[in-house]
Amino acid sequence: MTGRFANIIVDISHEKVDRPFQYRIPEALREEIAVGTAVMIPFGRGNKLIKGYVMEITDKAEYDEERLKAIDSVVKGGISAQGDALRLAWWIKENYGSTMIAALKTVLPVKQKMKQLVKKTLVCKADAAAAKAEEFEAKHQKAKARLMRELSIQPIIPQSLVTGKLNITAQTIQSLEKAGLIEVQSEDIYRSALPANVSQGWQKKQPGKLSEKQRAIVDSIAAEFQAGIRQTYLLHGVTGSGKTEVYMELIDYVIAQGKQAIVLIPEIALTYQTLVRFYQRFGDRVSVMNSRLSAGERSDQYERAAKGAIDIMIGPRSALFTPFERLGLVIIDEEHEGSYKSESMPKYHAREVAEALCRMKHASLLLGSATPSLESYYRAQKGEITLFELKERLAGGELAQVYVEDLRDELKSGNRSIFSRRLHALIEDRLKKGEQTMLFINRRGYAGFVSCRACGYVMKCPHCDVSLSEHTDRHRKTSRLVCHYCGYETPNVINCPQCGSKYILGFRAGTQQIEELLHKEFPAARVLRMDADTTKSKDSYEQILSQFANEEADILVGTQMIVKGHDFAKVTLVGILAADMSLHAGDYRAGERTFQLLTQAAGRAGRSALAGEVVIQTYQPENYTIIHAANQDYEGFYEEEISYRDLMMYPPVAHMMAVLVLSADALTGAEHAQELADRAKDRCGAKNPVIIGPTEASIGRINDVYRYIFYVKHRDYQVLVDIKNELEDFIGRLQWSTDSVQFDFDPMSNY
Ligand code: ADP
Ligand code: ZN
Ligand code: ZN
Repeated sequence: MTGRFANIIVDISHEKVDRPFQYRIPEALREEIAVGTAVMIPFGRGNKLIKGYVMEITDKAEYDEERLKAIDSVVKGGISAQGDALRLAWWIKENYGSTMIAALKTVLPVKQKMKQLVKKTLVCKADAAAAKAEEFEAKHQKAKARLMRELSIQPIIPQSLVTGKLNITAQTIQSLEKAGLIEVQSEDIYRSALPANVSQGWQKKQPGKLSEKQRAIVDSIAAEFQAGIRQTYLLHGVTGSGKTEVYMELIDYVIAQGKQAIVLIPEIALTYQTLVRFYQRFGDRVSVMNSRLSAGERSDQYERAAKGAIDIMIGPRSALFTPFERLGLVIIDEEHEGSYKSESMPKYHAREVAEALCRMKHASLLLGSATPSLESYYRAQKGEITLFELKERLAGGELAQVYVEDLRDELKSGNRSIFSRRLHALIEDRLKKGEQTMLFINRRGYAGFVSCRACGYVMKCPHCDVSLSEHTDRHRKTSRLVCHYCGYETPNVINCPQCGSKYILGFRAGTQQIEELLHKEFPAARVLRMDADTTKSKDSYEQILSQFANEEADILVGTQMIVKGHDFAKVTLVGILAADMSLHAGDYRAGERTFQLLTQAAGRAGRSALAGEVVIQTYQPENYTIIHAANQDYEGFYEEEISYRDLMMYPPVAHMMAVLVLSADALTGAEHAQELADRAKDRCGAKNPVIIGPTEASIGRINDVYRYIFYVKHRDYQVLVDIKNELEDFIGRLQWSTDSVQFDFDPMSNY
């Protein structure tokens, strides 16, 4: 590209500098600088050198040419944003609201090339190495003699051996090289991203034969691929139904077409076994990105991908930004997982970004899950994407027997323990038989709901139909109930509005309490606990799981962490102690999350020849989420859940944008949130957006930053994007010095 000027985005993420700044390109740098190049530029009054990315190269000066500063240099080893990355960053900025630099950094997960590892080999050039060795020996040049002697035995030796075992200095090697006696050959090598025991002794494993159903899915996607059709597919298949085999077969096909593939797997589910499976099938053509890699390892995988040295990248969310030139297929396993949504700005969803990327690269997108997100299933129902199903398990036993235990009945019968009578009896039975039990309490998103122990009634917001959260005022010792969406408040109740019982209260139970109770009720049982506290140190997560796998404990108690991925042959009982905790998390996705968790937890029991049993304890056995989860009936759950979303205008039927105002000052923060909400209403009133709030966020202050939130709902996503753009413009003009604003589309968590 020609041009004397570059428009550059600076590496400072703030609304105020979120625009390109123009610089002169010095003659000497013309050749090196292209769109996307990372450069150092003098910035601001002090002309401090900072990093930036070239967005555009032009011949048109925006100001007096004399007044333009010049680019200082090109960042050494800096990774530049190529065409696709730039377009994708732009798409992310536009659709989720963030500064361009934050979007750019998102699509460049590796920003700096780390030093390449080089393998050096010494080769003997002299025919008569032995004669030379004698010559040096005569002159008492021992080191040189030692090396030449070694080379006379084996004419090619790795340098590491020479400097190491033979104890010969680099200088000696150099002087021999100068004298023309030896040659030093260098070869770039890459750090491996796979654990050594995965990649050593690799033997390609021949894939097994696909079942008829698996074959039909692969064939129909491949046929469309062949015909040039690219679209999004959803594979709904219970755990163990053979989804991964389908993925691998499709990848094989796509690679045979000269294309490359990205496989996203949530980090927590990206187990050693999964890596081995892919490696056995594809060998060195596969690599992995995850948070355990060192910077050098990451940089090398990025480089290998950019060079086309690999065909498959496996990893969590950020692996989506692997710089594949010939991308043909993206697979997102467990597509319903919350970890696919970024929690920092830009708050993008990997599923949506993957779809945008696939459009740009003309690639296919395959989503897989045992419990598809409402988003994906809804689109499949509308015919926007193609649905495939695998309903049977291919290996690993029968589905478990599920019992739903009504905790209200327990109370009536005078049982106030955390364990229902059935669960208690079953734990006892397992201890006798020497089989294992997993007990699970879900605290994710737990927001302090209030429910009646006698009738199961839950205090809910009359406007939003989500549960209210209890806020206790320390000073006045009173408590009130608050809606996290609209800010609706009511004093806490003393008697149940439905049955008058006085047993209406907040729900408090933690893993530690359960552990203590287990010791009391089952003194002989060996108990392991897994939660945020016991997994703080590195490797403790793996340690607890392997202890449990080795049957060093009878019972594993834990949070949602324990339900993922791992198969324990001896686990024949799973207890979900309070299904209500996630059911009443106070947001519109609570039911969906609960269904997913219960399904997953139920899948933990009976993965082997031993039959499994699952006990779900709840105060609301009549709740449709519980009923359908107990029956493992996804479609039944979907039908009821989608009509709730439709009725209440929640995603995916409608869309919802959270606007979070962060402020150093409580008062101005509240004012600004109100101003923005008014603006959204005034400017976009004709489009009839529904505005909820503003109100104080559920966590009202973090690190002395006050947080205010409001929501905008609309059936058309684009209207929300328009409102976001309008607000961004407005904020850009206002120059609020203390505040920043974050957007979140179709939020997955509470604010
Ligand atoms: P998912 O990804 O849906 O959990 P997997 O692909 O891991 O399912 O398959 C579950 C188990 O069934 C694995 O042990 C796998 O080797 C086996 N399996 C998959 N497909 C077949 C098949 N066509 N024939 C026999 N076994 C299969
Ligand atoms: Zn009641
Ligand atoms: Zn409300």
